[in-house]
Amino acid sequence: MSAHSHAQVATGDAVLSVRDLAVRFDSGRNVIHAVNGVSFDLEAGGALGLVGESGSGKSVTSLAILRLLPRPTARIAAGEIWFGGRDLIRLSDREMRRLRGKEISLVPQDPMSGLNPVLTIGEQVAETIQAHEDVRRGEARRRAAELLGAVGIPRPGDQLGRYPHQFSGGMRQRVMIAIALALRPALLIADEPTTALDVTVQAQVLELLHQLTVERGTAILLISHDLGIMARMTRQITVMYAGHVVESAPTVEIFARPSHPYTAGLLRSIPRIADVGQPLTPIAGSPPELDRLPRGCPFAPRCAWALEVCWREMPPLAPVEAALAAGAPQSGPGAHLLACHNPVAPGEVEAGKPLRPGFRPAPQPPEYGLVTEETA
Ligand code: ADP
Ligand code: MG
Repeated sequence: MSAHSHAQVATGDAVLSVRDLAVRFDSGRNVIHAVNGVSFDLEAGGALGLVGESGSGKSVTSLAILRLLPRPTARIAAGEIWFGGRDLIRLSDREMRRLRGKEISLVPQDPMSGLNPVLTIGEQVAETIQAHEDVRRGEARRRAAELLGAVGIPRPGDQLGRYPHQFSGGMRQRVMIAIALALRPALLIADEPTTALDVTVQAQVLELLHQLTVERGTAILLISHDLGIMARMTRQITVMYAGHVVESAPTVEIFARPSHPYTAGLLRSIPRIADVGQPLTPIAGSPPELDRLPRGCPFAPRCAWALEVCWREMPPLAPVEAALAAGAPQSGPGAHLLACHNPVAPGEVEAGKPLRPGFRPAPQPPEYGLVTEETA
């Protein structure tokens, strides 16, 4: 272990610290650069949102943390994932299996994928408890009923003998939450936990997840493309684009002072009550193909703030000067970090472009090019 790693473990009260994580897929001809040096910290009992358009590397990041990446196509190419004093990347499969479900658990996007259709709900919740704790069947079932009650399933004792298909989608997701929280994990990862549900039950399920994690002191890593959900559920937000973290800050700070043009674009694209009936402004263009990565900032082709340097160099993730001056820390959960050569100024968020007289975004130079790497 390097001195640097020791320092990471020792600083602050982060339950999870991801450092410079890189994940590659060897599929087809070219290497897919799905996650490209991602770092973030989640404080114990905290709530961190990972946000970004579809394909930005959110799920791959969470699968790397859980060590559930598809084999053999995916590999962790670099990085460290610190959890409770251990680097998860270096744990054996056996140690990782013991940790999964007990110390870190997952609420998947589609509750059906996490449930076994031929086992009753009671068996599945009780099985999770018995897999990690030395309790008798009767006691496990009693605790299963208690948990189903806690997630708002009516008459839980009567429901233990029913099968997943006898529940609605919303009720199935409540069962998944019960399973995920059964062993009081220190960390819960919820990957778009309500996208498969009816709009009317989405809010209830999120509210439940929020309430239970707060009550139990469980830290939550919430993945969503929906900033409205993030505003209600999280204390910090990490914004991802093309497998990079482009901005990371406390949630209130992200909403008050978004500094990356991409973050500002995401904020402009969410519906606000004040603007009902107004058209939303989606970010024009689309993310790059991850097997053909540009040399510079991957957002440059869509960015109204682009400078010449943006086409050549990906900026490092560094503290925002104004936030430091206002007392924010340099790193850790309270920091405001940004990877941008030309940050959005206050007042430019609404406009969606720089308001500096005479400013024009630098055009794409011919050598911007796309770097490909062939699979071995
Ligand atoms: P999201 O942010 O929508 O969760 P993902 O993390 O699922 O995005 O995917 C990030 C990128 O990783 C995708 O755009 C894709 O290029 C690549 N990827 C994900 N899963 C696979 C896979 N099984 N095989 C090859 N490439 C994959
Ligand atoms: Mg995903």
